[in-house]
Parts: sequence; structure tokens; C-alpha cells
Amino acid sequence: MGRNQAKRQRRRDIPPAGTEVPKPPEVAVEAFASPAARQLSNEGGARPLPPGGPAQSGVTPSMAQFLEIKAANPNCMLFYRMGDFYELFFEDAVAASDALGIVLTKRGKHLGEDIPMCGVPIHRADEYLQRLIASGFRVAVCEQLEDPAEARKRGSKAVVHRDVVRLVTPGTLTEDTLLDAKARNYLTAICKAPKHAGEVLALASLDISTGEFEVGEAQASDLPGEIMRLSPGEVIAADPLLADAEFRKWVAIARAAPTPVPSASFDSLAGERLLKAHLGVAELGAFGDFSRTELAAVGALLKYVELTQIGKKPCLRAPRRSGSRAHLLIDAPSRASLELVRSLSGDRKSTLLYAIDRTVTGPGARELASRLASPLCDPGVVGVRLDAVGVLVDRETLREDLRRDLRHSPDLARAISRLALQRGSPRDLSAVRESLDAASHCARLLSAEGQGIGLPDALVSISARLEGCDQDLAPLLARALVDNPPHLRREGGFVREGYSPELDETRALRENSRQVMARLEQEYQQQTGIKGLKVRHNNILGYYIEVSSTSAKPMLSPPLADNFRHRQTMAGAVRFTTPDLAETERRILSAGERALALEQETYSHLCDAVAAEARALGDLAAALAELDCYAALAELAVECSYVRPVVDDSLTFEINGGRHPVVEQSLKVAKSAQFIENDCVLVRSRSDAPPGFDEADEARLWLVTGPNMAGKSTFLRQNALIAVLAQMGSFVPARSAHIGAVDRLFSRVGAADDLARGRSTFMVEMVETAGILNQATNRSFVILDEVGRGTATFDGLSIAWAVVEYLHNVTACRALFATHYHEITALAGRLPHVANFTMDVREWRDEIVFLHKVRSGAADRSYGIQVAKLAGLPKAVTKRAGEVLATLEATDRKSGGTATALTELPLFALSDAKASDHAARLSPLQEALAAANPDDLSPKAALEMLYRLKDLAKPEHD
Ligand code: ADP
Ligand code: MG
Repeated sequence: MGRNQAKRQRRRDIPPAGTEVPKPPEVAVEAFASPAARQLSNEGGARPLPPGGPAQSGVTPSMAQFLEIKAANPNCMLFYRMGDFYELFFEDAVAASDALGIVLTKRGKHLGEDIPMCGVPIHRADEYLQRLIASGFRVAVCEQLEDPAEARKRGSKAVVHRDVVRLVTPGTLTEDTLLDAKARNYLTAICKAPKHAGEVLALASLDISTGEFEVGEAQASDLPGEIMRLSPGEVIAADPLLADAEFRKWVAIARAAPTPVPSASFDSLAGERLLKAHLGVAELGAFGDFSRTELAAVGALLKYVELTQIGKKPCLRAPRRSGSRAHLLIDAPSRASLELVRSLSGDRKSTLLYAIDRTVTGPGARELASRLASPLCDPGVVGVRLDAVGVLVDRETLREDLRRDLRHSPDLARAISRLALQRGSPRDLSAVRESLDAASHCARLLSAEGQGIGLPDALVSISARLEGCDQDLAPLLARALVDNPPHLRREGGFVREGYSPELDETRALRENSRQVMARLEQEYQQQTGIKGLKVRHNNILGYYIEVSSTSAKPMLSPPLADNFRHRQTMAGAVRFTTPDLAETERRILSAGERALALEQETYSHLCDAVAAEARALGDLAAALAELDCYAALAELAVECSYVRPVVDDSLTFEINGGRHPVVEQSLKVAKSAQFIENDCVLVRSRSDAPPGFDEADEARLWLVTGPNMAGKSTFLRQNALIAVLAQMGSFVPARSAHIGAVDRLFSRVGAADDLARGRSTFMVEMVETAGILNQATNRSFVILDEVGRGTATFDGLSIAWAVVEYLHNVTACRALFATHYHEITALAGRLPHVANFTMDVREWRDEIVFLHKVRSGAADRSYGIQVAKLAGLPKAVTKRAGEVLATLEATDRKSGGTATALTELPLFALSDAKASDHAARLSPLQEALAAANPDDLSPKAALEMLYRLKDLAKPEHD
């Protein structure tokens, strides 16, 4: 059926605007003008109120109802339920038809003007909602809260009672179709601490779709990193904070929708009260200490949840505490440059997450992403995670069995959230059933394995939670639900046969209607002696008896007419009914209704049973997600030969045979070259050092030089990524790794193209470098890739030089510094903890071969021309460049070389030094010539002079 056809058909059922009878206005006002709804201030596609406010006289009652509801939700598009459609009117209709590409029509008039309208069928509402949310709209969903038949009882044309049941915003989604199965969707409230508490902010985040909940504080300087770590779908904050351009910038970069709320929402007392209510506790002590600012953020968060969910309560999981000491802090530019869960290009495949994700469920993938975004600092907790991975690495059968069972487990967390918000479906109930099934399988596997050797703590905890749910729930769901229940609850058909005898009976009656009617037909044929008599059904008459006009006559007069009552005369047929037929029909119809009602009863009963176990089910869902995550990390470790790192409280950083997890895999996929492993020993863990790295013994800052394309950037990043992997509790791509827990990780790439953000690349580079120098501690790990490149050589060199000195002398952190400024390698001789390393290359017939191997020492030259040749620069250009280079190098040698000058002279005197010491640049040959006076020379002396000059001109005198 085409859309227009559907519309026409539907239109018949709806009384046209202006024909409805008024409802008492005070009811309408009370029902629609929820004061909370007014709090949403003008944000996210404000929909102006149509001309003529609710109080407008002369509007039809149905229009008045619409205007009331619209006025109460001024910043949302209003999805206005009418029959099987959500209709949009006025500005909403225009904007939606534009955003969704659906037909804009009109319906009736308001104040003499046509009313623009468009509509979406309810069965496709999710799809349209998703597109509207993605385009930045918020949607208020307004439902019919009574059967139109009920409304008619109040008067044949009474207005059907309607109200908004939910506001759909980017941070409050629960439908699978609106969400990414593998990504968390946080709603995050952020507020500033009062001035006297310092530059601190509190962040409270809730994923309504799973109940995942996280609260913590951050220093103002760490806020961008926190926003990127949480990666929320929506950020709520008070106006003053949202007015801060820098804050808004980071919200935009995180692709979160900003939602302003009144400052009064950030009320710590309300927050405390709401949090206790949501968690069902009298005291919060068990969840740790919350600061007033944190509680204020929680207050605004939960108030917004109430506002958007309109009375329905999501189930909250116990809050996870996140604070600066809990996590390895990675600031926003470092997150961007390391491409942990998001790549610079937007391509998911170049992220570390994509490279390491072996999970088999959506919840497992979310857990993995969350761990990767928030690596830990506490070696003890890291160790607990590594133990779990280790066991699953060693026991292949267990791992495979677990993964097989997990693969079939549905997304439990999201199912129970929908059920809690009364937005669930029979399919969500079956998700609970299947999850319980998977959980008991996994628990059995774990306990079988645990006998004897015992399991590591993390797996013991998982095992307990897998079995923590009421034992009766699974059998109840198994008995009550069919194998594959339908998506929609209202059509029934999900209760299993044998669960309710009454339901079975009424269903039998409904399903046997065909036979019952066939029997009646036979009976009437005999009674009337009319062979062609038929019992038929249509939507208008229901069941009726039909005979041809020619044989109808006896039925129109007694005695047959006493039983057969005439209903309709058609062209060639006459239709009748009987009291018996009407009664049978009534029974069949009510059986259908009764069956449906019984199914709804069962549904509510099952929902109650699930709700009673909501907390235990939440724990169970989390346990399944963690198990998937551990098994996936073990699978990865086996598949890609990762090893267990040692993570402790030392300042060691010793990676032997390290590899870049992403580059290694892309080389493998492309079946091109083999990835070359490299060591990185910044602070050695043992005294029995392998040979070859003697120079590095004391070095915690490596200067890495080498030509372009030699692998410097890859080497730097692989070490940062190995630290991240180790601290999230994963095995790492190396032969061995020992990492003293890093507190902050910094990664900067020079000359990053940031023109889009309107700052010069050099400015960005310096701002970001300043961030490192101000924040890094001696526990931090810093990688700097070609910093200082974005400016003229001497500036860049000077800055790079000073940065290395600062990191060495002041910060004393572990660091890798890649640079093309060979001059800087001179620092290794001057600073005790700096060492030179270089990427090995071989020259072969004037071509360059990259060995991708890090070795001790400085690069002697940059091989720029060879690289240019590889890149396909025309031969004439590279040849000419070779000549120019030779000349430049010759001059440089004669002048004593900048590198020599640098080792002896303070840096900033460099240019002066070169200019002033002109005489020193004369060669001995020039000096000898200058000293000679030809007029004074005898022929013999002149000849001797010539010999001497020739001798001086030999290369060794240069
Ligand atoms: P640089 O920063 O020195 O210019 P990159 O780190 O960008 O060089 O590396 C250039 C390319 O060399 C990478 O894209 C990668 O394909 C390859 N490469 C780098 N390191 C290795 C390695 N250890 N083994 C194999 N290939 C590598
Ligand atoms: Mg590079």
C-alpha cells in the first residue's frame, strides 16, 4: 500500500480538525504544561511556537490540545500520535520533511492559514527518529493515552487524551536501532566547583541504555581529555560553562550535543536525594565519598533523566568512581594523535580498538572500548586483569567454549534498561532468558575449570555474578515465552502453549473459528435445503450468511425468517444473520481479545519478575561483558603473539622486541612486508643488560633520528600504545615488557594540520607542547614526534633543544623524541640521561633501503634526496638537488660545521657566533695565498710555494 493510499485510508478514521468537542481546559493545562519540560532552554533546533498561543480564542479543541502540548515542549519537534502515524505540524513539519525527505502536505487551517503537516508511520518511527536525532533535533513523543473508543464515551467527538511520554535526545536513547551496539552512549553532566575549591570540575555520566554510571572530578586543565575519554552523546551544563568557547569546542570535537540546563539544576542536596532513591539506599557510603560538586553534577544528571523519561526510572548500576588518580591521564591531543578508539581520519580501521577487538558481543565490545579509553594506574588492579587474561590464554579449550556460549548471548544490559523504562518488548524478555542461559553455561565452565587449581580473582568474581540471579527466573521465562517471540507486545503471540491453561483454551476457540463456522454452514444448508448457502466474513458486517438472490426467497418468509434475519441485498446475492451466528462471532471475537489480554497480563507478570531481579541482572550483564572482554584479549594475545607485561610501581620502561599493534596488523593483512620489532629501554629493570645498549643504560630520554619513512613515528607510537595496552590490562605486542605504571601519557606530532580550527599549525604545536611541559611528572611518558617542525629551522631547532633540556632537567620523565634536527644529537653528550638512537638504513647503488631497525647512535645524514627519489621526483630534480647538497655540505665543512659549533657554544649565541668568527672560516690554502707576496719571490721560491699550495689543496687539509 502506497503512502498516499495509507494516508487517505487513515484520514477517514480521524475526525477532521474542528469537529471535536472541547475538553475541560484546566485538565489540558495540567496534563500538558509539565513545569520540568519548560526547563529545557533554547537549544538543539528550537521549534518556534506556531502563531497563536494556547490561550488563543477561536481555535478548534483539537488544535488547542496540540498547541498546549507544543507549548510545553518548545525546544523539541513534536511527534504527535494520531492513529497509526506520528504527525508533525507547522514549523516541525517543514523542518522534518526537509530533514527526512518526506512529503509535506497540509491539513485544515489555523487562523486562516493552511497548516503544514507531515507524518511518519509508527512502525518506521525509530528509523526516522534516528535520522532526526543525528541531524541535531530533539523529539518529544506524544502518545494517545486512551483508546479513541474511551474518548467517544465522553461524547461522540471528544478529543482523545494525549501527552508527551518521552523526550528523545542524543544522550537518552535506548533503542537498538538508534544506538551503536559496540559503543557506549553517555549523557554527561558537567559542573564547576565553587571558586574556593580551585579549578576543579565534576562530571557525572550515565548510559541510560545500560545503566552504566560514572562519577568523578577533573582539574580544569584535564577537562578536554576527560570529555574525549567519556566521549558522551550529550553534555548537559549550565549556561556560564557552555558560554566558554574552549569548553564548547571540546564538546563539539567529541561530537556531543550540548544541552544547557538552569544553574539551579546543579543542586547537591537534590543530587544526593535522587541518587539514594535511584540506588535504593539510605546512605551513599558504600559507593565512596562524593564531593558536593560531584553530587551537584549527579543532581543535574538525574533531574534531566526525569525530565526526559517523564516518570519512568532507568535502573542505575553502582557508580564507578573516576578521578585523576584512578586512570592513566591522556589529554585530548594525545588521544587524537594515538588514535585509540577514534582515528584522525574517521576511519575506524586505523584505530587501536579496531586492531585489538576480538569480542563476540556488543556489551563485550563496549567494555573493551571503555577499558581502552580509560587505562588504569594501579599496578595491583592491572595485575588482577592480566591474571584473568593469562588463564584464558593458557586454557585454550575453556576460552573457546566460553566464546562459543557468549556468541549467542544477547545485549542484556540494554534489554533490562528498556524493560525498566517500560519500553521493552517480548524480545527483551527473551533476551533475559537467553542471557541467563549463557550465564549458567559460562558459570559451569568456569567452576569446572576452577576445581583443582583455582581461578584468578577477576574470574571468581565474574563466576559469582553469573550465578547471582534468582534461580526461578530462568525456568519461568523458559516456560512462559515462545522460542522466537515477536518484536511487538500488543499483537500477542509470545506466550508459550502450556503456560496458561486459560490462554490455551481461548486461543483454541479463536483458532477453531474456521471449523466452527464450517459446522454452522453445514447446519444452515440442511435447515434451508439451499446447497449454495455460505457463511462468510468481511470487515464491515463481520460474519454473515449469503445465498444467491434466486434461492433467497424461502428465507425471507416464516418459518425460516424467524431465525434468518435479513441484512443486505446485493446485486446477485442476499445476506442474513442468525442469533446463533452473532453469538458465535461474539465468542470468537472476545476469545481473541481475551487471549490478547491474558498475554498482556503474562507480559506484565514477567516484567515484574525481571524488575525484581534488576540489580542482579545488571551485575550479570556486566559479568558477561567482562568475560567476553577477557576472553577476547586472550584470543588476541594468542593470535598475535602478545606477551604479559610486568606493570609495577617502578620507573622502568623496558620493551624488548616491541611491535606496533596497528601497523603490524595492516602489514599482515596486506601480506606485504614483515613488521620489524624494536627494543626500547628507557630505564632498565635489571642489571643483566643485554649487550648493544650500553650507552642507553642511564638514558630515560631517547633522541631518535633517521630519514623520513625510516620508521621513527611508528617506533614512538608503538611504545606509547604498548603502555596503554599494558595499563588497560591487556597483553602487549612484544617479546617482553616491563613498565613502571605511567601516570600521564603525552603524544605530540609536530606540524599537525589544524588549519580547520583556525590556528596556525605552529601555534597549535606550541600550545600542545606547553601542555606537556606544564603537566608531565616524573612518572609520565612522553613521545614527541618532530616537534618544532612548523617554523623556520633555527626557531624550530631552538625550541626542540629547549624542550629536550626541560624534559631532561625539570620533568625527568621517560620520553622519546624523534627529530630531523641532527644538531640536537649533540645533546646526548651533554645531558647524562639522553641517548641517541637512529633508524638503520642502508645505501645501495645510491638508493636507500629502510631496515626499520632502531640502533644506538645518531643518523649521519637525512637521506632526503634518496627519499625524494623513492617518492618519484623527476630525475633532473634529484640530480640537481644532489649537486646543491654537495656544495652546501662542502661549505659547511670548511666553516667548521654547525654541529661542532653547537657542542661548544650556548644555543642562542649560535647565529652570532657564525657571523662574528669570519676569519676562522678561511682555509689554510687561502691563508697561505693571502700571506704570500709574489714580488718578493725568486723563481725557485715561487716554484716551492706552488708545491706547498698544491699540497694544502689536498682534501685532508680541509
Ligand atoms: P618516519 O616517522 O621515520 O618518517 P614512519 O614511522 O612514518 O617513518 O614509517 C613509515 C612507514 O614505514 C610506515 O608506514 C610503515 O609502513 C613502515 N614501517 C615503520 N616501522 C616499521 C617496522 N618496524 N617494520 C616494518 N615496517 C615499518
Ligand atoms: Mg614521522
